[in-house]
Amino acid sequence: MNLTFYPGPSKLHAQVEQHLQEAFQSGLLSANHRSTAFMAMLEETLLALRIKLSIPDGYEVYLTSSATECWEIISQSLVQQASHHVYNGAFGKKWFEYAQRLHPATTGQLFGFNDFPPDPAHVPAAEVLCVTHTETSNGTALPLPFLAELRKNQPGLIAVDATSSMGGEALPWLLADVWFASVQKCFGLPSGLGILIVSPLAIERAQALNEQNHYNSLLFIRSNFQQFQTPFTPNTLGIFLLKRCMQERSPIEKISTSLHQRAEIWYNFLRENGYKLLVGLPEVQAVTVVVAQDSEENIRMIKAKAQAAEITLGNGYGAWKKTTFRLANFPAITTDDSDRLMQVLQRSDKITG
Ligand SMILES: *Cc1c(COP(=O)(O)O)cnc(C)c1O
Repeated sequence: MNLTFYPGPSKLHAQVEQHLQEAFQSGLLSANHRSTAFMAMLEETLLALRIKLSIPDGYEVYLTSSATECWEIISQSLVQQASHHVYNGAFGKKWFEYAQRLHPATTGQLFGFNDFPPDPAHVPAAEVLCVTHTETSNGTALPLPFLAELRKNQPGLIAVDATSSMGGEALPWLLADVWFASVQKCFGLPSGLGILIVSPLAIERAQALNEQNHYNSLLFIRSNFQQFQTPFTPNTLGIFLLKRCMQERSPIEKISTSLHQRAEIWYNFLRENGYKLLVGLPEVQAVTVVVAQDSEENIRMIKAKAQAAEITLGNGYGAWKKTTFRLANFPAITTDDSDRLMQVLQRSDKITG
């Protein structure tokens, strides 16, 4: 089978094949989503997520359809006037634009992808402050000290798009109130399911605003999930796969440590083999998405060479489509997979020292 390094949809965990069959045989896929069998399955899924991801007590976990849906849920149910968005790439920008359509007073603060994020003292106080933990389009991530300082400076809620890091990196849950992701990135699962994690403060805020106008209003989602039900007929297959995948996984701390080590190996390998990194500043280089930059001609050659070895590299995103390639450093990628790609990318004119 072709090996893909695309950062979403990404390589599936090898066990998914077996779990798909288990799901079929379980009868759950034909069961009513108000049945006790479904409810028990959802409860086990949420428990496995909570344990394996080390989610703090008091924080609640819900499932949605996608990260994109989470963007809207936040604007609908947690924002009265405006959220403020600090971003440096395409996903952060898209979130800002969607939020702005729901609340025209929404504000944004763009920073360079090769710069540190702005000093939190210069980020205006917001009802909901929105940031992207790992910007999948350019391979940057927010440094931990930034999130810690932001927490001290912001009086309101902090929402973090962790779509391409949740399930891969240990996240500092207490430094934000809303965390969300989709399963087709670090969870190594087929797309079509989102994970939304909210703090007690976010729940309080939702109750104060009491927004109830949508099928996916946060309080309506919450009251359903409290009974291990969902506001609409859910992606039962996706939930089953998530449950099995989380049950079999190592704790996030262990996964995170090995991804950090492998990211370092990748960044060193690329540098030593004469590749230019899109993100030069080590403090903001992402762990889960690595981006290399070269001329259009070289990128075309590199991709063709990889394809000949039955490996798909991630295309660059947006303006960098033809001048970069992206590598997912997700948990489903094995050491063997990485080694196989390194053999292809190795250059004879290796720069040593
Ligand atoms: C992939 C991605 C999204 C969108 O996820 P969907 O499942 O398509 O909604 C949002 N934000 C980031 C950072 C992403 O990487």
